[in-house]
Amino acid sequence: MSFMEAVFAPYAERAAELTSSANPFAQGIAWIEGAFVPLAQARIPLLDQGFLHSDLTYDVPAVWNGRFFRLDDHMDRLEASCEKMRLKLPISREDMRATLIEMVARSGIRDAYVEMIVTRGLKFVRGHKPEDIVNSLYMLVMPYVWVMSPELQRVGGSAIITRTVRRVPPGAIDPTVKNLQWGDFVRGLFEAQDRDAIYPILPDGDGNITEGSGFNVVLIKDGVLYTPERGVLEGVTRKTVFEIARKQGIEVRLEHVPVDLAYRCDELFFCTTAGGIMPITRLDDQPVGGGQVGPMTRRIWEEYWSLHDDPAYSFAVPYPDS
Ligand SMILES: *Cc1c(COP(=O)(O)O)cnc(C)c1O
Repeated sequence: MSFMEAVFAPYAERAAELTSSANPFAQGIAWIEGAFVPLAQARIPLLDQGFLHSDLTYDVPAVWNGRFFRLDDHMDRLEASCEKMRLKLPISREDMRATLIEMVARSGIRDAYVEMIVTRGLKFVRGHKPEDIVNSLYMLVMPYVWVMSPELQRVGGSAIITRTVRRVPPGAIDPTVKNLQWGDFVRGLFEAQDRDAIYPILPDGDGNITEGSGFNVVLIKDGVLYTPERGVLEGVTRKTVFEIARKQGIEVRLEHVPVDLAYRCDELFFCTTAGGIMPITRLDDQPVGGGQVGPMTRRIWEEYWSLHDDPAYSFAVPYPDS
């Protein structure tokens, strides 16, 4: 059995168990205005500025095989994003962390996608000082989301570099604040569909690549990893990739990454919490390198999933039945 199968096969068994669970939260749980509700019944107030003006920030950690992965890194980033957005968590970080753990435990979900969203709340910023507005917090837990399915990860996905849309520039929307202003990404996703691919990589308008719809982009050329330093979210998965690379003695260059390098690279992968390390084997309808998942991508993929059991990176969720 390949390492990929050793990760995916037990996951598939755990996911199958969920579908037969009688727990009302087994398909997801939300925390809204202090109450726990089944995810499918969760509703937000229409007047929330998060909805009316996308005035919000959010973050997404994950749980894998019953263990929360890098939760504190995600909470650090959320707090930093709130600071930049002049938002304040309406409950303490400690309470929020404990509530998230309780939600996962109550749901019984062993492999979870966890989302926390902090919105401006019910008052518009025009006419109100940020410190006079009570911000809102929404949290949800649902079965793990795959930006690239396990089936596709075995062979690698197809991507394009978009021609009809560029990434919103950092001077307009700060990409280091995780946000849901997805106008550019959605255009990119449509262009990818139109060109018989799945994933868009958005350029910056100055001849460099940035990122795609919810993932960072990493190229490998002559044994060196390249990923854009500017115009992107500073991904926690990307950070894990840097740590793995350091351990494996692989050089990482965080710099401007020209579009041209993407067409000449040996290996290419995307990375995000919702899917992990996602190999890309076709770019603009041409094979990347040899057109197969490359050896370095494979080694990083394996180490990435191994770290999910490492107590330095994860901790066990106290499920009621374990
Ligand atoms: C969430 C996200 C990523 C990946 O970040 P992780 O912390 O690795 O999950 C990359 N780009 C964008 C635009 C994102 O929203």
